[in-house]
Formats: sequence, structure tokens, C-alpha cells
Amino acid sequence: MLRRCLVAANWKMNMTVSQALPLAAQLATLTSGPLAEIAVAPPFVALFPVGQVLRPSGVALAAQNCHALSAGAYTGEVSAPMLADLGCRYVIIGHSERRQLFGESDSFIHEKVKAVLEAGLYPILCVGETLEEREHNQTLEVVSKQLQANLAGISSGLGAKLVIAYEPIWAIGTGKTATAQEAQEVHAHIRGWLQQLWGETSKQLRILYGGSVKASNAEELMAKPDIDGALVGGASLQFAEFSAIIEAAKKAMAHKK
Ligand code: PEP
Repeated sequence: MLRRCLVAANWKMNMTVSQALPLAAQLATLTSGPLAEIAVAPPFVALFPVGQVLRPSGVALAAQNCHALSAGAYTGEVSAPMLADLGCRYVIIGHSERRQLFGESDSFIHEKVKAVLEAGLYPILCVGETLEEREHNQTLEVVSKQLQANLAGISSGLGAKLVIAYEPIWAIGTGKTATAQEAQEVHAHIRGWLQQLWGETSKQLRILYGGSVKASNAEELMAKPDIDGALVGGASLQFAEFSAIIEAAKKAMAHKK
């Protein structure tokens, strides 16, 4: 089955609104086509203005996080229904920076995945191992445990909207990338795991790779059978580099057809 690939930009805590708007205007010139879809996750404060600029284009709006509850006395938090109302399509959940720097537990991430699905949005659930875990050959076990804890009890009907991002923590923002073969091995494992959970639905789910993706390695990664796109941090802050990644994704997808 040919899955439409997804290339999602994660701006993290970068870009003031004044810096974001010119970049958003450039991004709005990109076309999401039948082979590749584009999404952009600006910081919360830039979501509305960037969304306005992207609206006429086919580039989707994504958020970097949300709370697990829909409303209430949670000062400083943002809920999934608020993001849906703003025009977001995707929400990144369980990014390793959230897990490691903000202490987000697997059970909290599970609640967030459910909240995003219930709001009618598409979660981009991040999983991945540390360098130490990889060196101890624990990668597949760690990823399976995260999936188990983050997806338990979710029906295949709801799960059909899930996007997974495999992000080896040692490759995020470090310039080190998993080789295409290393990444493919984990992606195939993830798809196999999802098949056990949801059967045929697993074939339509997109599994993105994230970790120092750039124009020079994007095509080789996305040419692999189970790599259906990329979650891009640093390289998404420069238009020329990000648009070259989109072109690489389209090329890789054209070969997969
Ligand atoms: C990320 O933040 O999800 C990421 C993959 O970052 P980078 O591309 O900078 O490694």
C-alpha cells in the first residue's frame, strides 16, 4: 500500500511571531501533493497568525503539545479542543524533550493521545531510545514498551488517525542520524507491533523518522519501505533546507509507487 508521506516541521521554542510570519509566507508557496503532505508546528503563540497565512495553501497546521483534559483550572495549559478550533490538524505528543525535560510520563502521554483523537485531530506520537539503550541492544524493547503504554485500549477505528514518529534520542539535534537501514529496522518493528494491535489498519499508518533529518539524507531515509516521512527540527527553520527535504520526500515517494 502506498502511504502518502508526511513531512512535519517542528519549530520547537524558536521564532517570535514577527520572525514566523515571513517563513510561513514562504512555506505557503509549497504544495502538499498526492505523494507528500506538509505540516508545520510553530510555538503556541504563533499558531493563529501562522495558521492564517497557511490557510489558503495545502500546508497543515500542527501543535507541539497539548494537555490531556479539555478545559479547567490548569494555568498555562492548552487543550486539544482549543487546537482543533484554531484549525490545527496534527498535535505532536510525547516528544523526547517533553518526556525528558518536562517529566511527561507514559501514562500522561497516553491520556494526551486519547484527548487528541477525541478532539478529531491526528496525534504524532514520538517514541525512541536513548544512546545507552541502543548500545545495550534495547531499542526494540524500549519502543514496544512506549507503544504499549501510550496506545493501550485505543480502538483500531480511532487509531487509524495515528501518526508515529520514531526519533532516536541520540539523533535529535545532534547532527547524528540513524542510518536508513537502522531506521528501517525499527520502523518495520513498529509496524509489526501495530499490526498485532490493530491488524490491517497498521498498513495505512504513517511512521515518520526524526533525528537530524536534512536535505542530504532525507531521500535515502524516505526511500525505505516503512519510512513514511520525517519530523524535522533544526533543518525546518530554514526555508531552502526544508523545501529541499520536501523535494527529496517527493522523489523517494515517486520511486516507491
Ligand atoms: C525533533 O525535534 O523532532 C527533531 C527531530 O529535531 P532535529 O531534526 O533538530 O534533530
